[in-house]
Amino acid sequence: MTRADFTEDVLIVGAGPIGLACAVAAKRRGLDPLVVDAGAVVNSVLHYPVGMTFFTTPDLLEIGGHPLACAGQKPTREEALKYYRGVARAEQLRIRPYTRLETARREGDALVCELSGRHGPERARCGRLVLATGYYDHANPLGVPGEDLPHVSHRFDEAHRSFGLDVVVIGGKNSAIEAALELYRAGARVTLVYRRDAFKPTVKYWLKPDIENRIGASQIAARFGAVVLAIEPEAVRIRRGDGQEERLPADRVYALTGYHPDFELFRRIGIALAPGTDRPRCDPETLETNVPGVHLAGSITAGRATSEIFIENGRFDGEKIFGRNPAAGQP
Ligand SMILES: Cc1cc2nc3c(=O)[nH]c(=O)nc-3n(C[C@H](O)[C@H](O)[C@H](O)COP(=O)(O)OP(=O)(O)OC[C@H]3O[C@@H](n4cnc5c(N)ncnc54)[C@H](O)[C@@H]3O)c2cc1C
Repeated sequence: MTRADFTEDVLIVGAGPIGLACAVAAKRRGLDPLVVDAGAVVNSVLHYPVGMTFFTTPDLLEIGGHPLACAGQKPTREEALKYYRGVARAEQLRIRPYTRLETARREGDALVCELSGRHGPERARCGRLVLATGYYDHANPLGVPGEDLPHVSHRFDEAHRSFGLDVVVIGGKNSAIEAALELYRAGARVTLVYRRDAFKPTVKYWLKPDIENRIGASQIAARFGAVVLAIEPEAVRIRRGDGQEERLPADRVYALTGYHPDFELFRRIGIALAPGTDRPRCDPETLETNVPGVHLAGSITAGRATSEIFIENGRFDGEKIFGRNPAAGQP
């Protein structure tokens, strides 16, 4: 065994809200799991737009029964970061950030996990592996030339940096609409490019009139039914709904076209995916996959349907994985 080899009873991959909730559930059943994360603790929340407010009330974001206090009705990104850090500290969770699971395989009774740590490769043997890896690292690509240019981002970060600039937002769901509105209010010249002819009814009820009024007043330009052909250093080339090509000026491009779980990781581990939905096969009672000892938790359990499982309905997955807590009333 080299210095980089170690053994754990339970390894949890992903220190997002659900991975942390699973770790708390495991601890309350007498286990002491190690949690690894490719990024920082709650790395997805860290990459939310600066100053963002959750659409969920605080009680539904709580894990392990720890109260989430916030100044307004709903918590901000910053309050959530502080909260989840606080839970990790209060529960004395063992967390190793900046450590990525590359693959895992079964060897006899153990699962052998290949990790990339801060100081190089590591190998962990464990009895049980819980994947709570989310989807926010894997954007749905547009598949057009120029998508990798430095002024193109698949995550919306902060509106302020676009003051006085031409910005193209690609997409028409909640995150794209929210970004377009914030960018407009921060003084950017915004064009929203959406492949559908109209917004879907699932757009949040408070965003819909706002974006429609901004478009109606020509404060935000919109191109519905449009297809992106290419992204250039200073423009986005599209084909509009009327079939005409157009070159939209773009100092910055936000391609907000959704995300998906790391299906390649699942395939490397041998987890079966349902055709069409890419929903990983797992026992609904225990969340154990077809690979014995490998469980799933949180948003990844829904495959491509990333708007099905949120923090509020994924945070009790640890109970399914580790069994009901004999100490009654303990989440
Ligand atoms: C802008 C935005 C706003 C949102 N607002 C809300 C809201 O108001 N309410 C709500 O309930 N939900 C909201 N969501 C959705 C919410 O963020 C997710 O449902 C939630 O984060 C899922 O938790 P999770 O723990 O399953 O995954 P994540 O929080 O994504 O955590 C997964 C973790 O796994 C790590 N990871 C991934 N791959 C590996 C690997 N191979 N090795 C090691 N670590 C890995 C990642 O770094 C990450 O930290 C929002 C999402 C976005 C993008």
